[in-house]
Amino acid sequence: MARFIFITGGVVSSLGKGLASAALGALLQARGFSVRLRKLDPYLNVDPGTMSPFEHGEVFVTDDGAETDLDLGHYERFTGVAARQTDSVSSGRIYSTVLEKERRGDYLGKTIQVIPHVTNEIKDFIGIGEDEVDFMLCEIGGTVGDIEGLPFFEAIRQFSQDKPRGQCIFMHLTLLPYIAASGELKTKPTQHSVKELRSIGIAPDVLVCRSEGPIPAKEREKLALFCNVRPDSVIAAQDLKSIYEAPLAYHREGLDQAVLDAFNISPAPKPDLARWDDVADRVYNPEGEVKVAIVGKYTQLEDAYKSIAEALTHGGMANRVKVKIEWVDAELFDREDAAPHLEGFHAILVPGGFGERGTEGKIKAAQFARERKIPYLGICLGMQMAVIEAARNAAKLTDAGSEEFDHEAGKKRFTPVVYHLKEWVQGNHKVERKVGDDKGGTMRLGAYDAALKDGSKVAEVYGTNAIEERHRHRYEVDIKYKDQLEEQGLIFSGMSPDGRLPEIVEWKDHPWFIGVQFHPELKSKPFAPHPLFRDFVRAAVETSRLV
Ligand code: GLN
Repeated sequence: MARFIFITGGVVSSLGKGLASAALGALLQARGFSVRLRKLDPYLNVDPGTMSPFEHGEVFVTDDGAETDLDLGHYERFTGVAARQTDSVSSGRIYSTVLEKERRGDYLGKTIQVIPHVTNEIKDFIGIGEDEVDFMLCEIGGTVGDIEGLPFFEAIRQFSQDKPRGQCIFMHLTLLPYIAASGELKTKPTQHSVKELRSIGIAPDVLVCRSEGPIPAKEREKLALFCNVRPDSVIAAQDLKSIYEAPLAYHREGLDQAVLDAFNISPAPKPDLARWDDVADRVYNPEGEVKVAIVGKYTQLEDAYKSIAEALTHGGMANRVKVKIEWVDAELFDREDAAPHLEGFHAILVPGGFGERGTEGKIKAAQFARERKIPYLGICLGMQMAVIEAARNAAKLTDAGSEEFDHEAGKKRFTPVVYHLKEWVQGNHKVERKVGDDKGGTMRLGAYDAALKDGSKVAEVYGTNAIEERHRHRYEVDIKYKDQLEEQGLIFSGMSPDGRLPEIVEWKDHPWFIGVQFHPELKSKPFAPHPLFRDFVRAAVETSRLV
């Protein structure tokens, strides 16, 4: 049966709780334990699928088709354990389940209350699959004291009481602000945060403190004394140049040891950190640099493209170069010529996105990359825009466009080279959708197979003809334009196994131009860079040698 580690946060948000959880997961793995990480989010959305990327950053999609919090991306990147539907839950999801049960009469006429009905639902969720792993790490979103978070805190308190002694521990992440005027790290906010936690019945076993510099012994003792933790369980989390040093840094600080001590696991198995030593060496000692433009819409918030940025970093690590990313707002090209903004980049990436805004600019970016023979990777919407560019400028279908934009505008302005996908095959059953369906959870989501064409660039990059990648889209390139576009040199080099849905296109006679309908970035890991990103960065390195 799993041991449980509950990770909570205090003082302020955005302290890197997800990263600390992911790094701890990696360290436990390095000591030979199996782990699973879960995220419990107090907001009322049923899932983050319908939230704007500006609000909440990227939506991370799992193999089994859940639209989840971007922290699950950190978990996967650090542990390599594929996240599942049952690794992410929100208050919205919990409440909607409770209300469904109430409507069905499952509660036999009882009054439905936060305690025990909502808390029981949360506890059931936490315990799913507990026999499968050695450690289950559950991160609670938000900070202690948030109104929405209370049922979650109450549920984890109860959960630890329900289990035998010593099977659950609590780790609390806080901030030690540095006051320049007095030259001191301040412990008071942390003391208050722990006090708040204890007032709801949770006493932290491990305290992780974010700070700009090391924590002096005096402050450490004070924290231990006032927060009732052992001094060696006060862990400093200093700012790092790369997140990929986090497992090593936390290990140096003694986080994994403190956790194993809290569980009384003795003697603790020795860690093997070779994987992370290699990762850190590649991040910190690049032998060159390439510049990649990401031409997108949500460029003000980098978290909106989190996995893409990380996958590019992994591609850089595979080639021992630093990938310098520049965010280019696609809407700029509505007003200005793209060329002056894109010259000087060694590769161009057009990411996924929704809605018409910025799409003409993305089409121009694809055209620039095709004509100038600059490596191009189009992801999801980025592939669709590359196909529209090919249709308009190479196949002379000048009014080519996507039904997505016609739906929004309420009139037909384009020849729909990209159309609204209303049925497809999943495993051995047919999935159907209607116009006007709910927006949440109704896209073509999760892992689907694709068959790659013999002798194509992608087959060479992947080193295989059969792949499985994660999807999140509602629109699709229309197969009926295949011959017309292939005549121009845009090869449909990856298809769904039934041959109906174009999954990958690539330009013949171009050093590297690939568009994919799926999201390869979601499966890339620092210790196992995704082949498309590895080879895209390799192509960028080649371009950099030419200029
Ligand atoms: N908006 C497009 C679609 O729904 C692309 C989605 C995406 O880029 N993830 O098909």
